[in-house]
Amino acid sequence: MNSLVNAPKKVAVQRTQAPGFFRYAHGDVVVTALYDGYVSLDPMTLTGLTDEERAEDLTRQMHALNADVDSAVNAFLIHDGKQLIMVDAGSAHVAGPTMGKLLKNIAAAGYTPEDVDTIILTHMHPDHIGGITNEQGVGFFPNAIVWTHKADADFWLDTNTADGLPDGEKAFVQIAIDAAAPYIASDRFNTFAFGDEIVPGLITAVDAAGHTPGHTAFMVTSAGQNMLFWGDISHIPAIQLPHPAATIELDVFPEMAVASRKRVLADTVKGQWVVGGSHQPFPGIGRVRQEGEGYAWVAAEYGAPSSLDD
Ligand SMILES: [Zn+2]
Repeated sequence: MNSLVNAPKKVAVQRTQAPGFFRYAHGDVVVTALYDGYVSLDPMTLTGLTDEERAEDLTRQMHALNADVDSAVNAFLIHDGKQLIMVDAGSAHVAGPTMGKLLKNIAAAGYTPEDVDTIILTHMHPDHIGGITNEQGVGFFPNAIVWTHKADADFWLDTNTADGLPDGEKAFVQIAIDAAAPYIASDRFNTFAFGDEIVPGLITAVDAAGHTPGHTAFMVTSAGQNMLFWGDISHIPAIQLPHPAATIELDVFPEMAVASRKRVLADTVKGQWVVGGSHQPFPGIGRVRQEGEGYAWVAAEYGAPSSLDD
């Protein structure tokens, strides 16, 4: 008698994941989401909501209670036909083995680090700035000019800042200093203020301060359509969208972070903006809808807008 159970399978199991990039047509520009990996976050470290609310939120999204939530770490490329702009840069070697896949995915997406003209940082935490420079202190992006908000540069590039940070975050200062160093040395490090048009006619810096002193969202306007790259407005979307008052211990100014999250979420719904989120589920592109007192994430559907190949 033939035994189906014991029949050896001749085809090897394939374990290679799909490349971590996702193309999205926004107005006249092509956005490419890049997956750097994931960061495990303990939902119990969020404050500003009750334990019952936290449990309800986690259960609604099928997350186990009292287990870490793995949040994606996303960066984005924006090609307007004239230049290639990158929003954030992942973490390279600075944040552990579950992250640092950005360069691999830039290559998979058909670009090279040399192609990147401009890097705009939402803020200078390790999973956003760490990926611009290698372990030897050499910049990965030889032609790129790096931009960050002046308040973040002033804060993170000052060694004294470490004194005021919790133990687990003191190393962030040296990571930011090391990452920025080759760009500062070659005069390719600039700062902006909220409201500045970083790329004229295309990208404006929007106030999202609180998570860090100069935490910035970038509004990309093309063909009359708006897409907001909101950085770390949310770290655990399952909780912080339904309960925007929930803050993560990483927030430098928690009250300001809550105010920014509430304002950005309300504006996003009102403006019906598309969102590119650093820690929304990969590819981090979607929309937000009002749900009761809070908000819910609507992921972009996989599809082929006419300006993209299928
Ligand atoms: Zn982050």
